[in-house]
Amino acid sequence: AAKNQGRNSYRFFTKALQDALEARAALLGDLRNALPDNQFALCYQPIVDLLSGDVHKAEALLRWQHPRRGLISPAEFIPLAEETGLIREIGDWVFESAAKQVQTWRSNIHPEFQISVNKSPVQFQSLEHAPEDWFAYLNRLGLSGQSIVVEITEGLLLDANLVVHNHLMAFRDAGMQVAIDDFGTGYSALSYLKKFDIDYLKIDQSFVRNLSEDSNDFVLCEAIIVMAHKLGLKVIAEGVETAQQRDLLTSIGCDYGQGYLFAKPLPAELFDQQFGKSS
Ligand code: C2E
Ligand code: MG
Ligand code: MG
Ligand code: MG
Repeated sequence: AAKNQGRNSYRFFTKALQDALEARAALLGDLRNALPDNQFALCYQPIVDLLSGDVHKAEALLRWQHPRRGLISPAEFIPLAEETGLIREIGDWVFESAAKQVQTWRSNIHPEFQISVNKSPVQFQSLEHAPEDWFAYLNRLGLSGQSIVVEITEGLLLDANLVVHNHLMAFRDAGMQVAIDDFGTGYSALSYLKKFDIDYLKIDQSFVRNLSEDSNDFVLCEAIIVMAHKLGLKVIAEGVETAQQRDLLTSIGCDYGQGYLFAKPLPAELFDQQFGKSS
């Protein structure tokens, strides 16, 4: 019986593995069509100036409207796009869409409006999709480099090779700003903050979640903000969900807040309605 059971569980596992592989292959096939079939959209989440309440910044977040499965989370498809290199084309589309949007919002919300785009490490590994292309695109739209902030994670800086280094320098030379996303969750990249001339630190939402109850998180946030300010960086807190969190963050000098308290990521039209001039 034991032998049978072993054989059954073996069959079970190979079946499960096969199903998982087939699901992955199917999703990958669909992902290849997503861009040509116009299934991607960007949502925009406001980044709020905690002192003035101004909304002159937003983060662009990618959404995939799958024809059969409905909305698929970036947490599910970005890793697949990274593994297959599809992220480069997708990333260029994200950038170009965000650039067109920031052009609109610079004229009808605020002349210094900024949109940040997420860039995965894979997008730094090839020289084909060089920052110069992005800069040229901004130029064609009559936009300065300052219109776009590139969000990267700490890991990229930790094992930054020359290609990564040159990419980042080219962004800087073009006037684009750089933010460290999910700060505090990866390897500590502290020594890289100065070396790479970073503009923003985004405190990961895991530190903000229990800010009101957990004194360790409070101390960590405070220390991050003090350090960032001494290095000349601005701080954005992610995942701000309550007024209490917002007030605590404001009291320790955090510059910006982003989170459901202010708004969920919104389609551009809704963002316009809520944060545009006419609102
Ligand atoms: P991220 O860049 O750290 O983006 C913040 C995530 O937190 C977003 O999830 C956002 O919807 C969510 N969020 C915002 N406010 C709150 C809040 O108050 N509470 C909670 N619980 N969550 C909040 P989303 O949109 O699902 O994106 C997940 C991740 O996918 C992003 O994390 C980013 O790493 C990646 N991603 C999204 N768009 C792109 C893209 O265009 N390119 C690349 N390479 N990655 C992207
Ligand atoms: Mg981000
Ligand atoms: Mg983040
Ligand atoms: Mg992230």
